[in-house]
Formats: sequence, C-alpha cells, structure tokens
Amino acid sequence: MESVLVSACLRGVPCRFDGRGKASAEVIDAIGDRRPVAFCPEVSAGLPTPRRPAEITGGDGHDVLDGRARVVDDTGQDVTEEFVDGAQQALEAARRAGCTEALLMARSPSCGRGTVYDGTFTGALRTGDGVTAALLERHGITVRPAPGA
Ligand code: SF4
Repeated sequence: MESVLVSACLRGVPCRFDGRGKASAEVIDAIGDRRPVAFCPEVSAGLPTPRRPAEITGGDGHDVLDGRARVVDDTGQDVTEEFVDGAQQALEAARRAGCTEALLMARSPSCGRGTVYDGTFTGALRTGDGVTAALLERHGITVRPAPGA
C-alpha cells in the first residue's frame, strides 16, 4: 500500500503550539486509501507542547535552509536549529516509509506549502514554504497543503 506523510496535527494529535490538533473530514478524504504516516517535525525536534508561536523572519523555509533567514518565536528566541532538525527528521521518516507525497498543515513555519506567516506575528502571510515543506520538496517529495486546514 502507498504511504503518505501527514502532519501529525492533521491526524488529531494535539501537537500544535497551542496544544491542539486539527483533524478534519477533508484530510481523511485527501489521504484516501493510502497509509498515513503521521509526523510532527517540531515535537520530534524536542520542542515542548504547548510552545510559543514561531515564524520565519527574513524569508521562507528555503531561505532558512540556505542560511539566509531564521525561525524565531514571539519572545525573540531563535529556534532555527530545532526547525531544521525537525525537517531532517521528517525527511528521514518519509524516506523510511517510501512516501512520495506529503499532506501538510497550511501556513505553518514547518509544514506550510506555498504560503506561510510573514514573521511579523500579525497574522499576515507571504508566499513561500515552511522549513519541512521546503526540505521535502528539495528531495523530490511532493508537498500539498491540506484541504480545509
Ligand atoms: Fe507539528 Fe507541522 Fe502540525 Fe506544526 S503544523 S504541529 S510542526 S505537524
């Protein structure tokens, strides 16, 4: 059976920064008959739940991977290392399970695909990918933002 990497919060795991999950019927439909491999990069990197909200400042996940941007939380603490570590762990998990596609949480600084928060903590968005989404895409895994998330 084909496997698909899925943001753990979209499977109902309460791993979001606010201590909640976000399961939905749309996500179950999008998974279809594939085997979901639930994974949370931020928790896997050792960040606590709940945790301070974090955003990418100075670019998107690709810029973080290239050392041009950082991930900081809303107190100013730099969590770039943890976000890159979580992305690498997500890539390993996807490879282990043979996933060619990932269904990830929209707008997250880790999992966002196509659109992420812009680093101002105002709810404003910018074009770009989260750190995990960027790393997966760079290694040939197609990342889709989860519908309805
Ligand atoms: Fe974890 Fe990604 Fe969900 Fe954030 S969006 S809680 S990093 S799985």
